[in-house]
Amino acid sequence: MPGPRVYISVDMEGIGGLVDRRQFLPEEREYERSRPHMIREMRTVVEAAWAAGASRVLVNDSHDGMLNLAYDELEGLPPATELISGTGKRLQMGEGLVGHDVAFFIGYHARAGTAGAIMDHTYTGDVHHVALNGQEVGECGLNAYLAGHFGIPVGVVSGDQALYDEAHPYLGETEFVVTKWALGRKSARLKHPDLVHRELSEAASRAVERIARGQGPKPLVIPTPVTLELGFMTTQGTDLAMLYPGAARVDGRTVEVTCPDMEQAYLAFRALLRLGTGFPLY
Ligand SMILES: [Zn+2]
Repeated sequence: MPGPRVYISVDMEGIGGLVDRRQFLPEEREYERSRPHMIREMRTVVEAAWAAGASRVLVNDSHDGMLNLAYDELEGLPPATELISGTGKRLQMGEGLVGHDVAFFIGYHARAGTAGAIMDHTYTGDVHHVALNGQEVGECGLNAYLAGHFGIPVGVVSGDQALYDEAHPYLGETEFVVTKWALGRKSARLKHPDLVHRELSEAASRAVERIARGQGPKPLVIPTPVTLELGFMTTQGTDLAMLYPGAARVDGRTVEVTCPDMEQAYLAFRALLRLGTGFPLY
């Protein structure tokens, strides 16, 4: 029987060593010094997945403009390793999930509004909060429920301790690697890189082996229909998001839509965000 097919969504804010927005934005000078850390963690996890018996590995660049991981950075990895590069994808951070047996979320971060969390946000700075059927979620929760909709469990999550605190209650069986301990939005106590890489490698191996034995975590499945609540930072964002068919206004900054399933809720989230994004905060 072929080994598990592994999907890896890689964000940047939860990568070890990185704490400040100047390290996360390609137009900033610090970015080129921080990008190798993202590449190194991606390669560590990919190599471990292959070594543990994966039959396919697909990496989805999930940060900012999604051009952080370059083509030549796959060199030396098994040829069946593929990379989704670029933005405008239908499912963005979850693009390409279908057809895999396990998903890894590497370099993830806590949701908007979390204290003591590196660069807490949910997709963009315009989002105040997101809830699914009344449960507040960030990117990790949105993507975990999307994976669950396709029958795919989350095998590994990595990020700061605030992400662990957020995700552990609903991803209790998932392997988790804490890469740093945030002191605030822009500072952290850093775990040694050798330790981060070793823990990532071990977590990825265990996750693939558990899936292969049929002892992996269960997919995170949300009851349907799915009510998506999206709060914007400004009422102007909310005004424009109300153009979405069926949107109901919950309060000044919040809209709500009810969708038949999680994939539709994810698409609604992305569409509402496009409608309600891009306004100055004042
Ligand atoms: Zn990011």
